Amino acid sequence: MENSVKITSPKPIFSEKQFENSVRPQKLSEFVGQEKIKYKLSVYLSAACERGEPVDHIMFFGPPGLGKTTLANIIAKEMAVEIRVTSGPVLDRPADLVGILTSLKKGDVLFIDEIHRLHSNVEEFLYSAMEDFAIDIILDKGPNARAMRINLEHFTLVGSTTRTGLISAPLRSRFGIIERIDYYTIEELSSIIQRTSGIIGIDIEETASFEIAKRTRGTPRIANRILRRVRDFAQVDGQSNITFKSVEKTLRILEIDKQGLVEMDKRLLTAIIEKFNGGPVGLKTLSMAVDEDIGTIEEIHEPFLIKKGFLQITLRGRIATKKAYEYFEINKGELNFNLGE
Ligand code: ADP
Repeated sequence: MENSVKITSPKPIFSEKQFENSVRPQKLSEFVGQEKIKYKLSVYLSAACERGEPVDHIMFFGPPGLGKTTLANIIAKEMAVEIRVTSGPVLDRPADLVGILTSLKKGDVLFIDEIHRLHSNVEEFLYSAMEDFAIDIILDKGPNARAMRINLEHFTLVGSTTRTGLISAPLRSRFGIIERIDYYTIEELSSIIQRTSGIIGIDIEETASFEIAKRTRGTPRIANRILRRVRDFAQVDGQSNITFKSVEKTLRILEIDKQGLVEMDKRLLTAIIEKFNGGPVGLKTLSMAVDEDIGTIEEIHEPFLIKKGFLQITLRGRIATKKAYEYFEINKGELNFNLGE
């Protein structure tokens, strides 16, 4: 046990969502990293502005927490238009979209998070809205049923997805701009941490933000989350700023791995190594072996493990790399196949 802590009266709870919104960059110039995407977006936005037209529909894809929602908000801000936010799974029927679509003004941004989870009937309904800026709705039922076409203002749809593989070809083809958001470098994450520290009003040493950055899985959302925990520890320790030492202490207590691996990453790798002789192993089998949802493995764990060089995906399945063995200090020739049972 580290020192015990005296709990003082609580202040109103500041939720993760409120925190995220408060530190979210508002302008392209405040958005750290992703230089190529920022450059391209700045060109598309200013060209559209000059022509007095809305920007083309945009799709962002990439793992969670990398800034897709933030970019959608920035686009609306930079174009000085409103943004309406919804998400794939909450739109049950085409009717759920009618109100939103008809309320959009010229140039407004409609942001659909998790667009890969749209129901197929809603997705099809969206096609004409995206392409022709018009929707057909059916009035009345039975013999009196008739179609009515409603024209919409020219809006910009920004779709966000963690799973491009699940986006149908017809939907994909209706986006004029498709950008992949990649993991951030340590330097970029460190400056995101410095920026967030400035906003929440705490000083942080450069070595400290660098150390946090190393363990954040290349993800700004995780960087900001760890920063908040480090701030908690620094605060109860009576420190006015965040030092390298306080970061080390917090990360040790939180058991945050030096490489940024979380428990499930380790379980996946050890399962491949110990139960499947290093692979190849199919995703379904692996998912059963570690008792984790296939989508979560594909969306959150695998991209990071591949990026770090711990995992390879081949046609025959998942393979643990030499680096994975080294990480667990396991000699491939001396594996104990019963481990982890
Ligand atoms: P996504 O939509 O990809 O899941 P978000 O846009 O919600 O991710 O970003 C998560 C958090 O990370 C936001 O609160 C935002 O403040 C922060 N963030 C993401 N990208 C950046 C960036 N490039 N610069 C600064 N902060 C960022």
